[in-house]
Amino acid sequence: MQRRTFLKTTLAAAAVPSLWSQPESAPWGGPVLDTHLHLRRDPDACFTHMQGCGVTNAVLLTRDVDQGKAKEEMEKRPGHFVRSVAADPAQTGAPEVFRKAISGGAISIGELKYHLALDSAEMRRVYEIAAEMRVPVMMHIQNFPHFAGELPYNTGYDQFDEVLRAYPKTNFIGHGDLFWANISADVPTDRGYPSGPVKKGGLTDKWLSDYPNLYADMSANSGNNALSRDPDFSHGFLMRHQDKLIFGSDCTCTDGKGAGVSQNNNPEASWLAGKCVARATLEVSKQLASPEIFRKITWENGIRLFRIQW
Ligand SMILES: [Zn+2]
Ligand SMILES: [Zn+2]
Repeated sequence: MQRRTFLKTTLAAAAVPSLWSQPESAPWGGPVLDTHLHLRRDPDACFTHMQGCGVTNAVLLTRDVDQGKAKEEMEKRPGHFVRSVAADPAQTGAPEVFRKAISGGAISIGELKYHLALDSAEMRRVYEIAAEMRVPVMMHIQNFPHFAGELPYNTGYDQFDEVLRAYPKTNFIGHGDLFWANISADVPTDRGYPSGPVKKGGLTDKWLSDYPNLYADMSANSGNNALSRDPDFSHGFLMRHQDKLIFGSDCTCTDGKGAGVSQNNNPEASWLAGKCVARATLEVSKQLASPEIFRKITWENGIRLFRIQW
């Protein structure tokens, strides 16, 4: 091989992970980054899910105690994974826990799913660390319970714009039922996944336009529902926020095809029963978005936001 050809080939190989350079293993037409894949008890199960649904790369959402486990999986399959760090912001020593994990290689904070107010002192400390260490922070925002007695997570969403203004250097990623219900101006209080037409003027839609530091994680039943409920609205929503939306699965199926317990057995999300949430959301995104926008939400936006270098 001539030196020039060799160099070109080597550079191409370095930039393109081998898995998606094979057309037959790229069912979505290119690489797909799942920004919401919880580290499973058996880390191999994460890769099994990815292969089943055509995902090539992932952010492993990892608790502070599991950093070592995620690291092993990353080393086992180089070029496929990065990891986050999650810990309760109210626990003693939380700031040190976040700082240490990020210094050790975690590229984001999340998922934060705790019973705290979005503008609490504990969460504010996290926003400061995220800005200082240049990593995004992802929050689960939910008020309607999935089971009797479930308490709300990350409360005070109605005033979240105050937080967005107070921390312009922090990149926030919203996720969860209430975050997505607020793409519409009318948010019912008796369910988590509202169906039917979206009323223009929703807080999430508005804030994604108004604040450069707010991003939206499309994962889970909630993200899928928001995209599926009103295709005419969703088409415009994807256009408007094409640089702010990031694909994620948050799927609990085993094989990336819907086996096992999909969508956490949540009766309110029965439209996803037996399906893989990742596949379902990729399918609806592909139908609604141009190839260019599909590529942004499934790859480019996440790579940029998480500052990923494989
Ligand atoms: Zn969540
Ligand atoms: Zn799945």
